[in-house]
This record gives sequence, structure tokens and C-alpha cells, in this order.
Amino acid sequence: MSGMHYEGNHIIRPPSEARSILLQVTVGCSHNKCIFCPTYKGVRFKIKPDEIILKDLDYAANNYFNVRRLFIMDGDALILPQKKLVWLLEQINKKLPLLERIGIYANAKAIKRKTLEELKELKDLKLGIIYYGIESGNDETLKFVKKGTTHQELYEQGRKVIEAGIKLSCTVLLGIAPNGKSYEHAVDTGKLLTKIDPDYVGALTVMIVPGTELYDMVQRGEFKPLNQRELLVELKNMLEATNMTHGLFTSNHASNYLPLKVKMPDEKEEALKMLEKALKGDIPLREEWMRGL
Ligand code: SF4
Repeated sequence: MSGMHYEGNHIIRPPSEARSILLQVTVGCSHNKCIFCPTYKGVRFKIKPDEIILKDLDYAANNYFNVRRLFIMDGDALILPQKKLVWLLEQINKKLPLLERIGIYANAKAIKRKTLEELKELKDLKLGIIYYGIESGNDETLKFVKKGTTHQELYEQGRKVIEAGIKLSCTVLLGIAPNGKSYEHAVDTGKLLTKIDPDYVGALTVMIVPGTELYDMVQRGEFKPLNQRELLVELKNMLEATNMTHGLFTSNHASNYLPLKVKMPDEKEEALKMLEKALKGDIPLREEWMRGL
């Protein structure tokens, strides 16, 4: 997408949007406080000017006319005022009429600002999926990582998206609980996912990246990262506590030790058995050096 205007440190999009048109509408993240998140460090949150967005859309219309999906960036673009979002989606639909689905990242704060009716309005303009950064269902962990939200709020805002008829993909993060709280983090996250009952769950493993608060805490000896085995135990506990009626639970991100794709609820028991085997050493894990590839 070299003809389009991108600002900031990285282009971040969910793995499932790898082939989508990437339209950057905001730069950075309006929260930007999570202690593990390197993505928008040093990037000041802003909304891009309408002219630039329209130019990018024209470029996309000329070059990617046949692409069926578009992803709106950056971190939490749903934070845009409703009027602006409606305008944006109308422009997108006008210029790219063949699109089937538009996706966006959102945190609880951004969804909270939208009423159910407003979300439905966005749905009617082809907003088909929201990627929702939950990270944890454990209040102590949420506070520790400075996510700025709670279990209850994550639950209510997640359900609202589903009620509006928009697909919900939740991201949770292994290895972020305060030391000694891995079990609580795993189980409370499983309980939250059960209550929300989303369409997709992606369990990623935290990467401890220089420049983040978490990295500094590790350097100072205030936080001890989980080892490979402890991360697997956490994943197993989380999956065990997650009872979704449908959907996919994956942990196949490049940053994870063991790729997993579980169709819920049918394949859950089998996946738990596989995790047990991995913990016993019967299944080889991806080597440390392969993480992040
Ligand atoms: S809300 Fe998301 S993008 Fe923003 S700081 Fe937290 S993890 Fe990073």
C-alpha cells in the first residue's frame, strides 16, 4: 500500500486483516498507557485530516478496487466521534462499493462512548468486525497493566458490540499478571470470555520490549516474566475456564510458543489434552529463537 499515507512507528493490524486495505484514520492510541505496549510510544494521538483520508481512499479505489475487506487504523480508531465515523464509512462505501466488511480496533472506553443505536448505525454501514483488546478479565491484572478498565466494563461493552450485530474478536494476553497471579488472571479471563461469548479469541503472549514500563520493571527486578512452562499452564487454565457456545479460540500468533486453533465448544477437550501433553514434554514446542518470526 505504498501509495497511501502512513504515520507513526509501525503498521499494526490483526493477522486476519493481512490482505485488507489498511486505511489509517487516527495516528497512535488515545489511551497509550498500557505498561506492556510498545506500539505507539512517543506517538501523539491525532485524527488525520479529511483531505489525506480522502486521498488515500481515492488511491485505494484506483488500485485495490477488488479487495473485499478494509481495516481502519490505528490503535483505537472507534474513539472517533460518531459523526466523523459515519462520514468516514459513507465515503468508504461510496468509493469502494465492492467491500464486504470493514474492521476496526477498539478498547472498552471507545465502545462505551457509543450507544447501541450508534453501533447499529455503523453496522449498517458495513462495520462488520471489532477487534477488542481485553488482555485480562482479572481486575488486579487490568490495574497492574494500566488498561484503564474493569472486568465488568469489558463485559458490558463487549456484549453491546454483539447485540449490535457486529462480530467481536477479543485479544487476551498471556504473561501479564502481577507475579503470583497467573492463575487468577487465567481463570477470570476465561470467565469473562464465557460471559461475552465472542466470535473469536486470540490469546497472545506478551513480548517484553525495551521502551515499555514493563521492560523497566523487569530490569529493576520488580517483575519476573513467566517461563515457557508457566505460560503454557496459564493458557491451559484460561482455556479450561472458557466456555464459549461457538467461535474460535486461537493462540497461533507468531509470538506464541504453541500454535492452537480450537473450534468452540467441540474441540476444547482435545486441545486441553494436547496442552497437557505439551506440559509433560510429549509434544515439542517452538524454540525460543523462533518467537517473533
Ligand atoms: S489500548 Fe491498545 S494500543 Fe493503546 S496502549 Fe493499550 S494496548 Fe496499546
